[in-house]
Amino acid sequence: MFTSIHPFTQKTIAEYKPHTKAEIEQKLLTGEKAYRTLLQVPLEQRREWMMQVARSLKENVETHATLITQEMGKTLKEARAEVLKCASTAEYFAENITEILQPRPIPSDAYKSYVSYEPKGIILAIMPWNFPYWQVFRFAIPNILAGNTGLLKHASNVSGCSLAIEKVFMESGFPEGVFQSLLVSSKDLEPIVADPRVQGVTLTGSTPAGKSVAALAGKYLKKTVLELGGSDPFIVLKDADLEAAARTAVQGRMQNAGQSCIAAKRWIVEKEIVPAFTAEVRRLLEHLQQGDPMLESTNMGPMARPDLAEELGKQLQDTIRQGAKLELGGTYEGCNFAPTLLTGVTSDMTAFREETFGPLAVIIEAADEDEAIALANETDFGLGSALWTSDLDKAARLSSRIESGNVFINAMVRSDARLPFGGVKQSGYGRELSLEGTHEFLNIKTVYIQ
Ligand code: NDP
Repeated sequence: MFTSIHPFTQKTIAEYKPHTKAEIEQKLLTGEKAYRTLLQVPLEQRREWMMQVARSLKENVETHATLITQEMGKTLKEARAEVLKCASTAEYFAENITEILQPRPIPSDAYKSYVSYEPKGIILAIMPWNFPYWQVFRFAIPNILAGNTGLLKHASNVSGCSLAIEKVFMESGFPEGVFQSLLVSSKDLEPIVADPRVQGVTLTGSTPAGKSVAALAGKYLKKTVLELGGSDPFIVLKDADLEAAARTAVQGRMQNAGQSCIAAKRWIVEKEIVPAFTAEVRRLLEHLQQGDPMLESTNMGPMARPDLAEELGKQLQDTIRQGAKLELGGTYEGCNFAPTLLTGVTSDMTAFREETFGPLAVIIEAADEDEAIALANETDFGLGSALWTSDLDKAARLSSRIESGNVFINAMVRSDARLPFGGVKQSGYGRELSLEGTHEFLNIKTVYIQ
């Protein structure tokens, strides 16, 4: 059984029976049939159905947000924002998909030659619990509009969200099977990945999960997109707007109780401003109200599972043993982990070297901007990065030296339907969202007319 446990109360909310082999086969059949049906449906119709998805999410925001909060613990406020972001992304792609799928003419020696973008079939999505709606919708919206169909294997602690998302698509007019939820454990995925009806696999999650799924997909020659872990640098140079940088650092690290792939996990601060920056972030962290995520007054919920809090606790203790100074927090019980601040963190310490997936902020001192960039790159990961400086020419120069899938200057790293999103190094490959993300699972077909 898949069990959903409320992280704050630790009470079991619901149990779900895994799908049987026969049910999985039925879903593959239905998914393939839906793909064939979608091929006959004009894009205009798919756009209308997607607008209905957006309306449905907006009209039922409270129901969806409550489910998210109960299953993985983020605050109700954060959960509402997540649902509404899915709705606005559905609207964005419904409005822009025609242009994104527009065939691209390429002059050659042919009478006419061009590239067209065509769907391929069922895409299997393996998704995590941290943004249980957003991670799913950002894959599903562009793919379904482009004519692919989706099979979702969601994280086993958010099965309720998985089924609720399926219902949204089912009730929005799309043919049955366009988006289906699969309740299966990760060890039972091989026959699904191997099935010839499945044309690609996308995974968001940890680097070990990504490696394992990529190996499996490689065995059956299936295209993959991997959005994996990160240890994003958040660089603050001495000429930065310190108050804005501190406020954004705290938000970027602590939202979703620190459980975001693009959280600001390593604050790299130029030496001269370390004392002032430390004082400011400490003041902001002290104001965080951690507690019951259903209450409007709470601005930080519990972590999603006790084992995740325990793992973070170990990383914290290791880093303190290695010489870092605990400035604030450091305590945890069950899923509740206090907002924590460490200073004096160096590149040989655990909290620098590993991804920390929870409310742990660390300050790393850099002698100058060159050392700040070197420290930013001294990681196996390369998802997002942020750079704070008032000199925009310098920002442009330095941003090209940072090894990551995106650089945000004087802003918080975030995903946006209009901009490609993804990583380099151990943070994965491929892109989501925008034109680049939409094309990932399409047949980029060359047409040559003599
Ligand atoms: P996982 O990466 O293990 O889980 C993410 C998804 O992948 C889930 O659906 C999970 O299914 C599935 N999965 C895991 N292992 C495999 C596998 N071998 N084959 C196929 N599917 C697999 O995340 P965890 O929940 O275990 O979190 C552990 C750590 O992962 C976090 O502390 C964090 O560092 C990182 N993480 C990063 C995320 C990101 O956004 N980049 C998101 C979530 C986690 P199931 O639940 O059934 O195991």
